Amino acid sequence: MSTTRDYYEILGVSKDATEAEIKKEYRKLAMKYHPDKNKEPDAEEKFKEMSEAYAVLSDPEKREQYDRFGHAGIDSRYTQEDIFRNADFRGFEDLEDILGGIFGGSFGGFGGFGGFGGGRQQRRGPVRGSDLRYDLNITLEQAATGAETTINVPRAESCEVCGGTGAKPGTNPKTCPTCRGSGQVTHARNTPFGRFMSTTTCNMCHGTGEIIEDPCTACRGTGKQKKVRKISVKIPKGADNGMRLKIRGEGEDGSPGAPPGDLYVVIHVEPHKLFERAGDDILYELPINFTQAALGADVMVPTLHGKVKMNIKPGTQTHSILRLKGKGMPYLHGRGQGDQLVRVNVRTPTKLTEEQKELLRKLDLSKEGDQVKSTKGGKGIFDKVKEAFD
Ligand SMILES: [Zn+2]
Ligand SMILES: [Zn+2]
Repeated sequence: MSTTRDYYEILGVSKDATEAEIKKEYRKLAMKYHPDKNKEPDAEEKFKEMSEAYAVLSDPEKREQYDRFGHAGIDSRYTQEDIFRNADFRGFEDLEDILGGIFGGSFGGFGGFGGFGGGRQQRRGPVRGSDLRYDLNITLEQAATGAETTINVPRAESCEVCGGTGAKPGTNPKTCPTCRGSGQVTHARNTPFGRFMSTTTCNMCHGTGEIIEDPCTACRGTGKQKKVRKISVKIPKGADNGMRLKIRGEGEDGSPGAPPGDLYVVIHVEPHKLFERAGDDILYELPINFTQAALGADVMVPTLHGKVKMNIKPGTQTHSILRLKGKGMPYLHGRGQGDQLVRVNVRTPTKLTEEQKELLRKLDLSKEGDQVKSTKGGKGIFDKVKEAFD
């Protein structure tokens, strides 16, 4: 997978460039196309290419080979690993990580050059348990008053028989003889140019560093058992849709010696048949008939906190919004609560009796019009209309 482009061209230097010039140009380009900084899709490819060009041109022997025979001279004599061996990456320690990431094991170590040992090492050790998510539906009433509920959470727990080791009780997992417990195998070769190393995950133990010779029969050597746990959840007053409650340590168990994960309960507030929530306020649509709207009335209105009496003033228009202070959702943080906003919806009658129609015609003809008031004592036309519709 060597590049076929001209190495001098890649670095933008002339055929007779000095080592210092080559180093300087490579540094400039490497900074520009460093895949951590440059998010162009081909940045990594370019970075690889220029690193290869630099590796060849910074090595007098390889450079001579390239000058005489071109790419064929390099490809026939050197593997990709060989190309990077003996390359002078001194002063590029800041690129070590990224070169290691791109070239993997083949960039494992330029042991001959101080400061370039090791490459990337994965640390093996106890692994923390996974976090879990549980979606919990609650009613708007539960959100308003707060609630405590119990949920059943299926999760992986440490096997009770073997304590999570996966080994039959009385036996212990053995340290993997291949990797001696590190989970990784390092191949080291000594070359005239220095010690060259590459690291891979151990095949024997698949990176765990341990071999179970006598597996626990209860968990078949996995160290884990599926359990369903009852966990109590406290829903705070004012809980809203999408809210995440973190319950520390109630996720899945980790490997022996590691902490468990956390449980995240995600709140979903079910739609309500009467109320709509708008932040801390509650919206409610109140149907009234047109005599109530015209004459005013006291009506009972449902709220999340029980029924309350509400006064409708005479002459209330449809779609007016009346406010019931403090009858909304409790504030999640701090004291107090929102309001209930009552939107009045004046219903126009559709099925009228002859008597009702007659009264409405009289109302329509009444000279008093809008100003009509129910007279004290005797009944005005409005009172008759009201009676007919109540
Ligand atoms: Zn077990
Ligand atoms: Zn191993």
